[in-house]
Amino acid sequence: MFIILYCHVGFYHSELTFISSNTVLKRYFCKECLYSTIDRSNLKRHARTHTQERPYVCAVCGKAFTRKSNLDIHVMKHNFPN
Ligand SMILES: [Zn+2]
Ligand SMILES: [Zn+2]
Repeated sequence: MFIILYCHVGFYHSELTFISSNTVLKRYFCKECLYSTIDRSNLKRHARTHTQERPYVCAVCGKAFTRKSNLDIHVMKHNFPN
């Protein structure tokens, strides 16, 4: 059984610290995909792949997105501004 001690949500990552009976576990989670790591520098390197690869581009304004679902939400705002 784990207890969440600390949770920080940043721009690129969520940081969770768990503690069990004799172990403290800290993991960093990517906000864009399911990637997670115990090494913060690994996550920073990983996050860069998302900023460089934005294959889903809005046909209206040219804004680019890493995920199709995010593009779909964005396009909805063009269609329904309010
Ligand atoms: Zn990711
Ligand atoms: Zn757009």
